[in-house]
Formats: sequence, structure tokens, C-alpha cells
Amino acid sequence: MMKQHSEIILIGGGLIGLSVAVELKLRGATVTVLSRNQQEAAGLVGAGMLAPQAEQIPPSPMLDLCLRSRALYKDWTSKLEEITGLDTGYWPCGILAPVYERPDSTILPQTPDTPSHWLERDAILHQQPGLGDDVVGGWWFPQDAQVDNRRGLIKTLQIAAQELGVKIIEGITIEKIVTSPHQTVTELQTNQGTFRAEHYILTTGAWSGELLSIPVYPRKGQMLSVRVPNDFKSLPLQQVLFGSNIYIVPRRDGLIVIGATSETVGFTSGLTPNGMEMLLSGAMQLYPILKDFTIQEFWWGFRPETPDLCPILGRSSWDNLTLAVGHYRNGILLAPVTAQLIANWVLNGQSDPLLEHFRSDRFQTLK
Ligand SMILES: Cc1cc2nc3c(=O)[nH]c(=O)nc-3n(C[C@H](O)[C@H](O)[C@H](O)COP(=O)(O)OP(=O)(O)OC[C@H]3O[C@@H](n4cnc5c(N)ncnc54)[C@H](O)[C@@H]3O)c2cc1C
Repeated sequence: MMKQHSEIILIGGGLIGLSVAVELKLRGATVTVLSRNQQEAAGLVGAGMLAPQAEQIPPSPMLDLCLRSRALYKDWTSKLEEITGLDTGYWPCGILAPVYERPDSTILPQTPDTPSHWLERDAILHQQPGLGDDVVGGWWFPQDAQVDNRRGLIKTLQIAAQELGVKIIEGITIEKIVTSPHQTVTELQTNQGTFRAEHYILTTGAWSGELLSIPVYPRKGQMLSVRVPNDFKSLPLQQVLFGSNIYIVPRRDGLIVIGATSETVGFTSGLTPNGMEMLLSGAMQLYPILKDFTIQEFWWGFRPETPDLCPILGRSSWDNLTLAVGHYRNGILLAPVTAQLIANWVLNGQSDPLLEHFRSDRFQTLK
């Protein structure tokens, strides 16, 4: 049986695990990532919207966290692209949020960092021709953006981690986090032997509740993609469409990602007729011209949900175990800020005041 020692072990190598591993390595740490299966990672499944405004997250520490991360995205992806020579697919394209019912107020709270514009039907059709007949208007959020997580970001992170010298072991399952009465983790039991480190970071996404008693649950999402036919001279969509029950995310090469269902069915895998029907009918109602585009792919995955829909970040009940889980619908958006805050905490003991809002002990009264 393997027995290994490393300075820091990341338990889980999805989007958050890889982002944190790269940041720690860039700051000089010795890092190992142990991960079961990247194909199941939500980081590969998501739509890649960087959408704190379109998601209408109310003013809160969560909104501050999301906005801080959105502001980091350009430099963070450039740095990863420089290390690897790969394209993450970051695209500050803005997000258009069409609606079918006129809202009571067409003014949203805004700051210089969060501009938003209400567009009446004529104006929204001018900005985006081809929207469905039911659209009565909508908001334009110019600072929201997207990244091609599925084909760009996660691969770039993986290669960056490898090139920087992070040890990544794929295909390994952590079965137990062994703890001592002195509030420390002593080792990890895995299907490939035991592993030890000075510090451990839990980044197991939707599966986190299987290893620790923390409230993280799977929220399933089904997705699909279509492709713009070759006879279109230019891309018909140049911005994300964020509808009330559907989103349509155009990539720069003509792929269009459509999502997503939101289902509480545990880890039940697979696609359902109901899920597909909801995606297809919702997409055709919002943007009817895609009804003749070619379907490319269908897939599904599990968002890591928490009771207050906010992530669990920072200290745990064990001195040498840090948590970075529960990113729910916004983990792709939150990857750079999570990496930064967690590296500050693990390497320098610095707890940013923002991090304090996301401590795991906020749920203790729930137990
Ligand atoms: C349908 C859908 C659409 C989404 N759209 C967006 C979006 O547009 N924008 C956005 O910001 N976010 C979006 N998200 C959310 C985002 O994808 C997640 O919040 C984020 O990927 C979570 O990252 P993670 O690293 O915590 O988990 P994951 O990426 O799921 O990675 C967890 C990893 O841990 C591994 N693991 C688990 N248990 C073990 C174990 N015991 N031993 C070893 N390894 C283990 C798994 O194999 C997996 O590789 C979406 C999610 C879904 C499902």
C-alpha cells in the first residue's frame, strides 16, 4: 500500500481544488491533489456564467464575494493562459436578461461596479435580434461575463497545476478523514493506501457531506449544447441570454450551451425526458431561431448546495483542515477569490473579514 507525505493535500480536484492548488503552488507550497474523477466535477458541467448581477444576488457578503471574484477574473485567466499557452475562453461579453412580465420597478440598485440598464422591447430587440415574441423587455448587465469552463478553464487549470509541479493523482477515492482527539487530522484513508500532510483542504464539491458532517447536498442540473450552422456569416449571439427559467450561453466558436434544470434527486445520474423538454422548450421560447440548430451534446452534474446557498470557506473544527466547499450555482465565478482567500488563510493565517461570513460554524444551530 502507498504511504505518502506532502505539505498540503487537496481532497478533490475539481474546479475549486485545482484553483486553490495552483494558487498555493505559485506561492511556493508543496501541493498534492487527490481526486476521484474529473469527469464528474461540476466545474466541467457548468455553463461558465460569471453572473452575480444576472443572478440578482441581493446586497450581502455573498454579493461582495461574487463581485470581488468577477473583478479578479481577467487577470486570473490571463495568468493561467500565460503559464500554459492555452485559452480559458474568458469572454467579458455582458449578460442580457430578457423577461416575459414587466417588473414593478425597472431600476435596480447599482454602484459604479454594477451598472445595469433596463431595455424596453424595441431596445432589447435592437441589441439582440431574434428574441421570442413573449419577451417584453429586459436588463443589460455589461460587467457580467463568461468563461468556457468545459473546454477551456478546467483543462488550463489542470495543465497549469502540472507545469508548476503540483502532484495530481486522479482515480483515487478518499474513504475516510482520520482525526485525533487533539483536533487534528492525522491521515486520509483512500482506496490506494494512506496519505499524510501537514495541512488538508477539503474541495470535494457536492460529495463533501460523505466525508464530513457538513450540510452540503447535490442539486442536479441537466444541460445541452447546440451549434450555429456554418451558413451563418457571423455569430447570431454575442452575449449570454439569462431568461427566467433558462440560460443560453454562446461560445466564440459557434457552440451554444443551454441550461439548466435544478433538481433535488440526490446523486441520481442520467438525463430525463422532462429535463430535456424543459431545456428545449425554454430555449426555443426565449430564442426561437435555435430550433433548427444542430444538437451537439447533453450532460448533467451536481451543484454543491448549502442551506443558505453560500459556500463554506476557511477554518474547520480541526486545526489542519480547511474547507472550500458548497459553492452551489456560482463556483465557477467564485474560483479566483476562493483560491486567493484560502491561500491567504492556509499559508499566512490571514482571515479576510469577508471569509468570516462563510465559516462552517454558522450552521451549528441547525444541527
Ligand atoms: C448544471 C450546472 C450549471 C452550473 N453553471 C454555473 C455557472 O454558469 N456559473 C458558475 O459560477 N457556476 C456554475 N455551476 C456551479 C459550479 O460548477 C460549481 O459550484 C463548482 O464547479 C464547484 O466546484 P468544486 O471544485 O467544489 O466541485 P467539483 O467541480 O464538482 O469537483 C469536486 C471533485 O471532487 C472529487 N471528489 C468528490 N469526492 C471525492 C472523494 N471522496 N475522494 C476523491 N475525490 C472526490 C470529484 O470527483 C470531483 O472531481 C453550475 C453547476 C452545474 C451542475
